[in-house]
Amino acid sequence: MNTAIEQIIVLRTLIAGGKIYGILVTESAGTSCKDSDVRCYGDDDASWISWFCNQKGNEFFCEVDDDYILVDFNRSGLRNHVPFYDYALDLMLDIESFNDGLTDEEQNNLIESAMEMLYGLIHARYIATNKGLSAMLEKYRNYDFGRCPRVNCSKQRCLPVGESDIPRLSTVKIYCPKCEDIYSPQSRHQEEIDGAYFGTTFPHLSFLTYGHLKPQKAIQNNVPRIYGLKVRNKQ
Ligand SMILES: [Zn+2]
Repeated sequence: MNTAIEQIIVLRTLIAGGKIYGILVTESAGTSCKDSDVRCYGDDDASWISWFCNQKGNEFFCEVDDDYILVDFNRSGLRNHVPFYDYALDLMLDIESFNDGLTDEEQNNLIESAMEMLYGLIHARYIATNKGLSAMLEKYRNYDFGRCPRVNCSKQRCLPVGESDIPRLSTVKIYCPKCEDIYSPQSRHQEEIDGAYFGTTFPHLSFLTYGHLKPQKAIQNNVPRIYGLKVRNKQ
């Protein structure tokens, strides 16, 4: 627990190569966090989850309830996938348990990565629950997941989907319910997100749950023509 002697802050710095790293540092009590790049933990109105979901490129994530994460069953089996599991969990839930031994940049990057993976894998489970489906539905209605790039789908809203439920195998894609195909997200940041943080089930469960939202299947196909004449395939 926070002893009021130290508080944990996270510095988000944009470094060469465009990748955003989170750097955990300790700061003595009484020191202010006025820099706009500095995010102070310990504020009652802020949480790591809220901060994470509002980062550029993380628009696909909804905010998972703390109550859901606190249930051991909802995290079963994840310890085997996530390094620094206990530490990442405490930091994610803003339960200060900062270890002074883990303060160098390389370790902080590993922890940041572990927190993202733990949150992502919990997120994949959460969005298959009623509350999670509802939260993602709201984002779907707001076009947060982008639109189908296929012309004949008339900018149909899409949902995120993974090609695997196992982490580190593939990145997230967007699923169009009209042509029932998948595409790469338009944002470079989103393209780097692990597909397992959304899973293979989510969009299909969504349209099973909210059947009235499933659009008519696209039937228009482009017909190749040369000077107005259809091109016949030679067999
Ligand atoms: Zn489509």
